[in-house]
Amino acid sequence: MGILVVGSIGLDDIQTPAGRRQRTLGGSCTYFATAASLYAPVSIVGVVGTDFPQEHFEFLRSRNIDLRGLQVVEGKTFFWAGRYGEDFGDAETLETQLNVFADFHPQIPEDLKDSEYVFLANIDPTLQIEVLQQMRAPRLTALDSMNFWISSKKEVLTEAFSMVDIVILNETEVRMFTEESNLLLATRQLLALGPKALIIKRGEHGAMLVTDGQRLGESFFLVPAYPLDSVVDPTGAGDAFAAGFMGYLAREGDLSLRTLRRAVVHGTVVASFTVQDFSIDRLRTLTMAEIEARYNELRYLTSFDPLSAQEFGVLQRPFKA
Ligand code: AMP
Repeated sequence: MGILVVGSIGLDDIQTPAGRRQRTLGGSCTYFATAASLYAPVSIVGVVGTDFPQEHFEFLRSRNIDLRGLQVVEGKTFFWAGRYGEDFGDAETLETQLNVFADFHPQIPEDLKDSEYVFLANIDPTLQIEVLQQMRAPRLTALDSMNFWISSKKEVLTEAFSMVDIVILNETEVRMFTEESNLLLATRQLLALGPKALIIKRGEHGAMLVTDGQRLGESFFLVPAYPLDSVVDPTGAGDAFAAGFMGYLAREGDLSLRTLRRAVVHGTVVASFTVQDFSIDRLRTLTMAEIEARYNELRYLTSFDPLSAQEFGVLQRPFKA
């Protein structure tokens, strides 16, 4: 099934210990759409200015990404400049220019209002809500955000959290939003706002999925990051994670806990490829065969005892029941 995504499409200046790129293709929606298009048809909703290079449109079209919801308006494209330190941890934002996003209001083409999978990539939460309000009966909605919006629009973001099935944040954002240093307590606070599940991205420490199961083993799933001996540019890892996660769910069309867990591993794998080159460059050549090979390596890396039939049965539980 197809995925509808709203988010930023922009040009980035990126500095990492591995080098520097200027006015390179970026934006949360761009990373997500490029990676998710390996799994399922993707339609994007967003805006670019008249300065957006033609070659980027051509690239997105080459991935069969539906651009009917992408507006092109007079003005400058969204611009972000960020820098990463020696540990490749959280980006330090040097500059954010919303440009054409400042006056943007999403208009979803009529037939796309029936999209089953909706991903609200990192963008102004007001726009995320405007997209949700136009959707008819999505099967699964998920949302990502960042420190910029937590500090500037916390109330609207809280409302957006209450309207989606899954909230996806990184560890620093969870602590910033909840003002709680214990992650377990922080996840309870976030789930109490309304989402049915939470995914916490923990960079090189992996990711966790939190649902509202009865026992710890039913409510938590933990996966390590795929071990890499070189990272080039962490930009977009979060969006690529979301793409592997949503892409797998949309492709499988199943929302049991077991499928959700596998989707988290797909997210982990796609993110691991993304950070191995600047911008979306590694995603340009990435294949499903490469994703599956790393997925299998992670299976071996994390396997210790098979589950009993009873324990395994819990994972067949539908996620949204
Ligand atoms: P990630 O590293 O997964 O958080 O996503 C990186 C992308 O987010 C970059 O390509 C930026 O263009 C984009 N970005 C940075 N700041 C913002 C913001 N305030 N709103 C929307 N997108 C942003």
